Amino acid sequence: MPIEIRQFPCLSDNYGYLIRDVSTGAVAAIDTPDAERINQELAAAGWRLTHILNTHWHPDHAGGNLALKEKWGCRIFGPEGEAAKIPGLDTPVGDGDVVMLGKSRGQVIETPGHTLGHIIYHFADDKAAFVGDTIFALGCGRLFEGTPTQMWSSLSRIAAMAPDTKLYCAHEYTQANARFAVTADPHNEALLKRAKEIDAARARGEATVPTNVALELATNPFLRAKDAGVQAAMGLVGADPVAVFAEVRKRKDNF
Ligand code: ZN
Ligand code: FE
Repeated sequence: MPIEIRQFPCLSDNYGYLIRDVSTGAVAAIDTPDAERINQELAAAGWRLTHILNTHWHPDHAGGNLALKEKWGCRIFGPEGEAAKIPGLDTPVGDGDVVMLGKSRGQVIETPGHTLGHIIYHFADDKAAFVGDTIFALGCGRLFEGTPTQMWSSLSRIAAMAPDTKLYCAHEYTQANARFAVTADPHNEALLKRAKEIDAARARGEATVPTNVALELATNPFLRAKDAGVQAAMGLVGADPVAVFAEVRKRKDNF
């Protein structure tokens, strides 16, 4: 069954998402960066909130939980590994669990790295994944809690999804990510072209999210640790992909 997706900016650089199961009218907020802004969107759409699906505990993702639950009586799903830190959590979920939004199926995938309990929601029938702060267009989440090994494995699970899967990232970080990416993969023509397109899109005030799996595989240096060009730029030709990924992450942190 199809889902409808409404995307809107929240706070300084977050995206809020509301998704609606067309057959039943069930509506989920993916994370709750700003309860007031989410309520405005619900009113504009004429939708009633039934679910909250949290990706991780950070306040720009779960900060609106209690206000929205109070208003709507919605059910809150979130990472079992962070259950104590998710306000109002009703149903902790982990790897392999399925969250039903009406008749639409969201598969839970654990993606530790940015935080240890981080999860993402994959609506495979809709070719859509809500990836929180695990992957960004041309970037990935900072490793606040997890290790490079964990994050590489998490990103690899996203990379293995169908190439036309849309990735709904939680932040508009693309332009800054592109400035770094061209230094990590300097001879990648697809990346250089995309960086120009991103500058043009941002100059027009357009969102660069969602992205998709194929585009990230071709241009995101954090997914390209096995690529000879990225390895050369990192000074790690032939090295283990985790070591290359860790070096890309480290350089981005200091960029
Ligand atoms: Zn976060
Ligand atoms: Fe965030």
